[in-house]
Formats: sequence, C-alpha cells, structure tokens
Amino acid sequence: MYLANSKKGSDEERVDALRKAIDLVSQVAVKQAPSLEELNNEILKIFPDDKEAHKALGHIQYLGAYEKYKGKWLTKEDYAKVQKEWRKLREEEAKRKAEEAERLKWTKDAFAKKAARTRDYFKKDVSKVPGLKLKFFFDTPQVPKPYFLMVEDRPSPDPQQTAEVLGPGLAALRKTFAAGYPKGTFPNWDDTEFVVPVMVFANEKSYENYRKHGHGFFPGTGLAAAFYTSHSEIPEAFRGVLYVWQGAKEAKFYHEVFHEATHQLMHNACKGERMGPTPWLEEGIAEYWGTYQGNKYKGFTFGHFLHGRFPTIQSAASSYYQALKKGKKTGSFLTPKQMLGIDQKRFEIMKRILDNRIKGTPQQRIEAGLTVSLIYAQGWAFIYFCYNFKDGKYKEAFEKMVHDELRYEYSFDKCAEYLGMKSDEDWERLNKEFFLFCFRTMRRLANR
Ligand SMILES: [Zn+2]
Repeated sequence: MYLANSKKGSDEERVDALRKAIDLVSQVAVKQAPSLEELNNEILKIFPDDKEAHKALGHIQYLGAYEKYKGKWLTKEDYAKVQKEWRKLREEEAKRKAEEAERLKWTKDAFAKKAARTRDYFKKDVSKVPGLKLKFFFDTPQVPKPYFLMVEDRPSPDPQQTAEVLGPGLAALRKTFAAGYPKGTFPNWDDTEFVVPVMVFANEKSYENYRKHGHGFFPGTGLAAAFYTSHSEIPEAFRGVLYVWQGAKEAKFYHEVFHEATHQLMHNACKGERMGPTPWLEEGIAEYWGTYQGNKYKGFTFGHFLHGRFPTIQSAASSYYQALKKGKKTGSFLTPKQMLGIDQKRFEIMKRILDNRIKGTPQQRIEAGLTVSLIYAQGWAFIYFCYNFKDGKYKEAFEKMVHDELRYEYSFDKCAEYLGMKSDEDWERLNKEFFLFCFRTMRRLANR
C-alpha cells in the first residue's frame, strides 16, 4: 500500500509513503518487499539531498575544502576517491608554486639573474668532478646579498646548515669591513647587484678531488681552510671566488676563511677587475680583519689582536733593538720604510724562490722565507699599530693608503706623505714608535 502511495501525489506525499514503507520493512518481514536500499534510493530520486536516506545508505557528506564536492553526499568509495583526488591536486599546486618560486628566485632582479649565470657556470665547472654536486644559497636572512654560497650537496655535513653558519659570519665581516673605512674610500661597492661567490666543500678531500679534475693550478691544502682566486670567467657577474673546505679546527678555520674573505672584499672594493697589488697591505689587511672573536652562536667581531703572529713580531722587535745597539740598519725585521716599499714584483720573486720556481742561493732562500713571513706578520702589526698607537695616530694615513691601493695608485712616496715622513729622522722616530709598540704594548696584549 505504501509503495502504491509512493507512486502518486506530491513529492512530499510520495517520500512520506516511502518512509512508512521503510519503517514497515525494517520492523517486520514482508513478502516480496523491496530492500531498504531500494527504498532509500527511491527517496533520493525525489530529494537527492535527503540526509536520512543518505545516512541509511551509509553515505558520507563531504565537508572538506574541495569546492567541487562541498556538501555532496558520497559513497564511502567515492569519498575516499575524492579525498585522494584532492590531495593530488594540492600536491600539484604546491609543486607548481615551488617551481614558480624557484623560477622567480633566479629571475626576480639583477642580482638573481647574475646569480643564475654564476650558478650555470659552476654547475658546468663541477660537472667534470666526479661525486661533486652543489646546492645554492643566496638572498636569504642567513645568506644576505651579495653573498652567493655554493655548498657541496651531500647528506653530511648538511649543506643548508653549513650555509646558515657560514653566511652570517661572512655577512658580519662584510658589514664590519665596510663600516671600517670613511665614505669615499671604496671606489666600488655593491651590496645588491654584484654576486660574491663562495664555494664550500664538505672536507679537504673533496676540495682535492675538485683540484684534481680541472683545477690543478689551484693551491693544495697546505692552507687549512680556504683560498681566494681573483679570476672570473664572468666578470660582469662576479670578480673572484672564495673556496672553503670544512674540517679544520674552529679557530683556524674561521681565521683562514675570514682572511681569504677579506681578500675578496678588498677585490670587490677595487676600482677595476684587478686586485690591489701591494703585498704588505693586502696580506696585512686580510690578517687584520681575519682576526675575529666570537663564534657562530654569539656572532663575530673583527680586527682583534692576532696572537698567532705575536712570536714573529716579538722576535722582529728584538732583532731591531739588537741592530740598533750595534749601529746596524738591517736584521731579521723590516722597518716600516722597508716594508712600505716592497712591491708585488719583489714579493712574487721571493715566493718563486721559496717554491723553487726560481733557483735561488741558500742565502736567498733564507732571506725570502724571512721576508715573506715578515710581510704577513709585520703587515698586520703595522696596520694594528696605525689603528691603536696613541688612539689611532696613523689611522687616517692608513685609510688613505687603502684608498690608493683600491685605485691602483699606491706608492711609497704617498705613504711617506700620509705618515708625515719628511726626513730620515722622521723615519727613525717611526721605527722607534712602531717597534716599541710591538715590543711592549703588544706583549701586554698578548699576555691578557
Ligand atoms: Zn692572504
């Protein structure tokens, strides 16, 4: 009877009849009765959204974020399918967004485009090196412009972690270095468009592997952690590359990295593509800024007293006093006058004698070894002296030398002028000021 009624009348009346039929069928056994499923489906033919009928059929209403199915009643199977489809859509969307972000990352501004050219060059560069892959980091809070870190990509050490430790240190050095000179000292300084590339190897072995495959002219790992090359295949994107390999003890590692990074900063600040040529100034300044305090957690400060060079400085000062006593002009030291006059040519010859590219007499080798070591140590000591003697009596003079060096205009005569040296007596006085500072003030600093 209910079934008969369900065939006629208004929609409401028909559904009412079907419900009664459902009640009946679920309470008593009725011969040849339609199944509950059939009855509920009949209701849905009339009211496709009928909640009760759907629930009775075990359907689930979709209340998720997939707009197409919002509020719809679905069988369990369809529900699972919709969820799976939605997840897939979301994943595709995320992938698209990531790809778009990646594309934008390498194209969004002049820096990004130069970074992309640099990346392409080095990807090709390392493609000949078995087992070496790079991951790139730039323009992030940890690796701010203009640094462009190319970190060896392997499970350990984690490249991201490496970038986030090294990036802030290099950025701190760059900031301190730039703030350390009066306006107008640098003929060139670009924090936003020019790329400053740093390649970071997982360890010494990996750097040696790189060297073996196409970079045999690079220095070996006699250095503990880093070296800078002023060579660039894409001079419109970057000037030179800082190479760093991990594994050295922290203090040594950072000192060498900051030393070499200062060479890179000096080169970036230069007027042209060439590096500044003056050995004592270039090495001294790298030692000066490379002498840091702090660590990756606390942050770094620079320009501190360099304990590692103190023994050399101390014996140079002693040798000066001995020579003075004997009325001699030379010994195991360089007077500021001697040092300021050593140019790149002489320095190169000494270095060549030392690594046997030029055959020198034993005496020449000894002298070259001493002078090269003194150029590093006294170069640093002289800069430290300029900054700290009598509250920076010669600081301005040194800054003017940096100004000239960065423009390839350094000369001994101009140094003499900046320092106020007009006569031999002036130079004698400077010797005394300098070596006394080295002997006494530095000893106090060393013992602190
Ligand atoms: Zn150096």
